[in-house]
Parts: sequence; structure tokens; C-alpha cells
Amino acid sequence: MKAFTYQRATTPAEAAAAAATTPGAKFIAGGTNLLDLMKLQIETPAHLIDVNDLDLHKIEATPTGGLRIGALVRNTDLAAHETIRRDYPVLTRALLAGASGQLRNMATTAGNLLQRTRCPYFYDSDQPCNKRTPGTGCGALHGYSRQHAIIGVSDSCIATHPSDMAVAMRVLDATVHTIKPDGGTRDIPLADLHRLPGTEPHLDTILAPGEFITSVTLPPPIGGRHVYLKIRDRASYAFALISIAAIIQPNGSGRVAIGGIAHKPWRVESAEADLPQGAKAFTARLLAGAKPTPENAFKIRLVERALASILEDVKGPRP
Ligand code: SF4
Repeated sequence: MKAFTYQRATTPAEAAAAAATTPGAKFIAGGTNLLDLMKLQIETPAHLIDVNDLDLHKIEATPTGGLRIGALVRNTDLAAHETIRRDYPVLTRALLAGASGQLRNMATTAGNLLQRTRCPYFYDSDQPCNKRTPGTGCGALHGYSRQHAIIGVSDSCIATHPSDMAVAMRVLDATVHTIKPDGGTRDIPLADLHRLPGTEPHLDTILAPGEFITSVTLPPPIGGRHVYLKIRDRASYAFALISIAAIIQPNGSGRVAIGGIAHKPWRVESAEADLPQGAKAFTARLLAGAKPTPENAFKIRLVERALASILEDVKGPRP
């Protein structure tokens, strides 16, 4: 690990300003992804800004009937929160499907959103990777790609976003709130936070340098049956081949977001009108334009079949 300097921020504004003015600075909270990347020298920050002391650990009701989740709320606490379990159970289920108990105890809400891809080429500095080192090529394009993206891909990168929590937040229409180095604030729909790789796959999000996430809000609950189905190569502590966050209403209408298939949680609102017609019609619209590799083309059928299973299950009694 390379040497770095360290400071503890006392306000979000101070953290954002320090990140923008200190070359090579990174925020650290739970550190569950960043420390691994530093040990492998994939990330080599010159300066760490520890944000754990900031007053961003609360979950509070909003005046409009929604919920504000502080950026530093730990994944375990968010999953167990009474209101989340009652009104937004898709979020609890997604959180509990991710990582391990120990990691969820440390991982924060903002850190979960900002974790980096688990593409194996990204983690192997002997391999080409445009996300790690722009311009070196993409080892996965003609290599091992079973886990990789099938839609929204580019010739530069076919990585997926690894978060389960983000998929549930996408289906819940969450909004991310930030503070910028100049003290200004921004509200970003979760749909717009993560970007597609294009020709700049080293950029995971639209956040500006130093921009710091302070909270995430959920709109008022919408009822319905909440499902999070994660399909992976082993039963626990593995990233998704695909995952589905679904909220289905009694009349068959609903919302669906998919994880494990793109550089961001994948949701196509205009396709959701086709949900009552069944999984086949919906999946055809959801995944129109997909460009899988020979190794991961199975994900298209997997999404369709997993969704068909969900739509069948929700017709039955609540578990
Ligand atoms: Fe790197 Fe993206 Fe290619 Fe993986 S898919 S090797 S992260 S450029």
C-alpha cells in the first residue's frame, strides 16, 4: 500500500472542499471496497478524508411522507429499520442479499452506491482495463465475461455495477443529495447518478470532483408486493448474475429494475406498461438493444424466467 496523508472532516462542506483542493484525495467511511482497492494498488489516494464523524447517521421522515437516509447509515441498520421493513421491504431484502453480515455492519449508504465494479480484470493490474487505466483496452470484451453486462455496453467496457441496494433504490425512485466543493447542493435522481461506460468507463457516476453525497431520500411508500430476487453462482456472499427488484400492484401493474446486467441499475419505465402482459413481452422491451457476449447471452432468458417466476409468485398469498 502506498503512503497517504489523513484527515477527519468535521462538516460535509469541509469534506467536499478538501477533496476538491487536495490532489489525489478520496473520501473514506466504511472502507469495505476502498481498502481492498488500496491494498491491490488499484486505488492509490494521496490523501484520505475520513467522514465517519459527520452527523449523517440518521433515518428520518420527510415532510412529504418519505424517508431521508443519511449517507453514513450502515447497511445493517438500514435493512433493520422498522419503517424500511414495513414500507420499503424491497430495500431490506436487497441489502440482506448483499455481502456478508460483517461487511454490512461497516458499509454505508453512500459507499454502497459508490462501490466499484467487481470485474476481475479491473482487479488484476497485469490485465488491460480501460476503467482502471484508460486507453489500455478491455480484457473482458474477448475474455471471461459470464458476469458482465449485456446492455448499455460500449467497445470500451462491459462492466456491471455491483450494488444490490442501488437496484432497490432505483425501483423506489430514490433521490441522491450532494454538497459540492463551492457549498452548493444538488438533488440527483438515482436513475441519473450512475452513467453508462461509453468512451470514459473510468467515470462511474456523474458526480463532480469533490462532490459529496450527504443523504438519499425515498418518496412516500406506494404499497404493492415487494420482491428482490438475486440469482448468483453460489448461495451467499457472491455478486449477482442478475437480480430483480420488483414492486407489483394487485392489478398487475408495477415497477421492475434489474441488477447485474449493466453499468447501472437497469430500469425502462416506458416498458412497464407491458408488465400485465407477462414477462416475455416486458423483457423484450426492457432488453431491446442488448449486446451480450457469447458467454453471458444466457442472462436474457434468465431475466425473463426469473421475472415470470416473480409474477406468478405474487399472485399467491403473502409469505
Ligand atoms: Fe475494465 Fe470494464 Fe473491461 Fe472490466 S469490462 S476489463 S472494468 S474496461
